[in-house]
Amino acid sequence: MQQSVSRQDFDQWMVPVYLPASFVPVRAEGSTLWDQNNKDYIDFAGGIAVNALGHAHPDLQQALQQQAARLWHTGNGYTNEPILRLAKQLIDATFAERVFFCNSGAEANEAALKLARKYAHDHGGPQKSGIVAFNNAFHGRTLFTVSAGGQPAYSKDFAPLPGEIQHAVFNDLESAAALINDQTCAVIVEPIQGEGGVVPAEPAFLRGLRELCDRHNALLIFDEVQTGVGRTGSLYAYMHYGVTPDVLSTAKALGGGFPIGAMLTTDKFAASMGVGTHGTTYGGNPLAGAVAGKVMELINRSDVMDGVGLRHRWFIDGLNAINQRLHLFKEIRGLGLLIGCVLNEDFSGKAKQFNLAAAEHGLMVLIAGANVVRFAPSLVISEQEVKEGLARFERACEVVVRGAQV
Ligand SMILES: *Cc1c(COP(=O)(O)O)cnc(C)c1O
Repeated sequence: MQQSVSRQDFDQWMVPVYLPASFVPVRAEGSTLWDQNNKDYIDFAGGIAVNALGHAHPDLQQALQQQAARLWHTGNGYTNEPILRLAKQLIDATFAERVFFCNSGAEANEAALKLARKYAHDHGGPQKSGIVAFNNAFHGRTLFTVSAGGQPAYSKDFAPLPGEIQHAVFNDLESAAALINDQTCAVIVEPIQGEGGVVPAEPAFLRGLRELCDRHNALLIFDEVQTGVGRTGSLYAYMHYGVTPDVLSTAKALGGGFPIGAMLTTDKFAASMGVGTHGTTYGGNPLAGAVAGKVMELINRSDVMDGVGLRHRWFIDGLNAINQRLHLFKEIRGLGLLIGCVLNEDFSGKAKQFNLAAAEHGLMVLIAGANVVRFAPSLVISEQEVKEGLARFERACEVVVRGAQV
């Protein structure tokens, strides 16, 4: 018999790095989940921009089950069919000519940064090791990626940190230009800062970074872990901006909920990563390859991309209507289905209260820092679920407003 478990057990058994919600989801379908008490929740969080096709998508279930019955794992001494097919799908759909597979966004960025250092050491010498990143950026939790990230709260307690990483101001090309020189091996940037508050890059900023990297022989790395796989209404955000990176990291939605990450690059840069220079046991696992291949097939279609634009409007119209009545947000920003509502002065620092009130009302939403309520739902969420979710959000907002008045 299985042991019965509850939310309280988390506090006793888990390393306390998370503070999960008070309920425990047990099953889901589309963009609706149910908890242990059979209470339902509309999912505007999407597992943090992961469940791009919602939950329990029948085609993804089938892809996983069919592969589960054939071959789970071989290790990298052998390649496998699903991962080769996925590599070709990614190459055909993007600028990339080469792919490295791993299991998470942090690992994809770790591979990207190591590639940049290796390429520079091969071609420019050991002094060409500088990495330029941005304040408030988020690139993952390994020591290298947390150091590239621009939130010292996540890195300072783990010093000594990897060196030669400097941070410029996001969307401020001059501040980046002041740091980028011939000793720079890479610039790493999110086309939309996700964790940092859903802040889209200005097109001229990304174009300027591209020019600076070209001038100084530095690799331009786009961290598309959150913005990739259709999230912005383009398959990758770089396509929306019309600025092509040298290296791109993708994860989160790539597996639709099954762990997988990938680093995309060109022949020229991939050549520096010879046999034995990098690797991971699970990276390129056939189960992940089979699921991600199906995710790519289902998402990389013009009707799905158009659908993201349509759903963006449903959200923006609904959120604007709520805001006109309740006066909560000073800005609603983002692209496609990565949307951030920036709280105004009256509610500053209270994003978590909106998240908690939403859960009470049967709605899962994200925050991005203390001032931004973030939405990253399924790219195929139904109109009915969007309507119902926004209605629940409005009731939750009313509760927060009443709380703020007393
Ligand atoms: C989530 C995220 C990461 C880290 O991905 P993990 O899978 O958690 O390691 C890196 N970069 C960005 C932009 C992210 O949003």
